[in-house]
Amino acid sequence: MGGAELDGLPGWVTLLRAPNPGPMTLDGTNSWVLRAPGEAFAFMIDPGPLDEGHLRAIAEHAPFRAILITHGHHDHVEGASRLSAMLGGTPVLAADAEHGAPLEPQIESDGLRIRVLDTPGHTLDSVCFLVESGNARAMFTGDTILGRGSTVVAAPDGDLGAYLASLELINAYRDVPMLPGHGPAQPDVAAMAQFYLDHRRERLAQVEAAVRSGADTPEKVVDLVYPDIDPAVRFAAIFSAKAQLDYLSHKNRESGTRADGLDRL
Ligand SMILES: [Zn+2]
Repeated sequence: MGGAELDGLPGWVTLLRAPNPGPMTLDGTNSWVLRAPGEAFAFMIDPGPLDEGHLRAIAEHAPFRAILITHGHHDHVEGASRLSAMLGGTPVLAADAEHGAPLEPQIESDGLRIRVLDTPGHTLDSVCFLVESGNARAMFTGDTILGRGSTVVAAPDGDLGAYLASLELINAYRDVPMLPGHGPAQPDVAAMAQFYLDHRRERLAQVEAAVRSGADTPEKVVDLVYPDIDPAVRFAAIFSAKAQLDYLSHKNRESGTRADGLDRL
């Protein structure tokens, strides 16, 4: 699914992939090192899981001005305090105070301009980093948009209405390369956002149809909409169906109409 993969990464970006592959993490978590040409200090995005070998590989790229967090899921943030300690106290910055010191909306330092875009949906604390080095730009999307497949927007942490608004926001960044939290880099983040929007709307239409035909629990919706789902990710699909049903029931309540059956969910 998705666009053509990006050939090669921008010269100022290094990918270190954590050894935690799985149905929810694809090939593993992408940890990113960003160092502008000629600069001593780099930034790094998402240390990933608490894996000593992976964190040591990241530490070889020190010094870092800061460790940035896209969102608080453990496969992105679990190794952050250990990495910070290995580096002698490099600050960890995150949207959620549980995971680090506050992120300013813009960071200009060490040849990079980093804009923090609030993109809630996958989680309430999800952000994307739009980074400029000279004339080059790239967007680091965390789990808001993955390099392959579709991301999970699962109740109660996720919010589908917020997620669709975040995708609309990202959709404005035409031809900006996308460097995701999992999966391969992609050449155009806006094209990926559009692809995700189309996919979500299609799924929502299917869920509405499932509800009309009597599916009155997230489990029954999953059985109708995703009949061939991999058992390893069925639990995620059920949480995702719950988020879709929540979204549809709010939307219908606001518009004063209600699909049959939604009031029972
Ligand atoms: Zn993740």
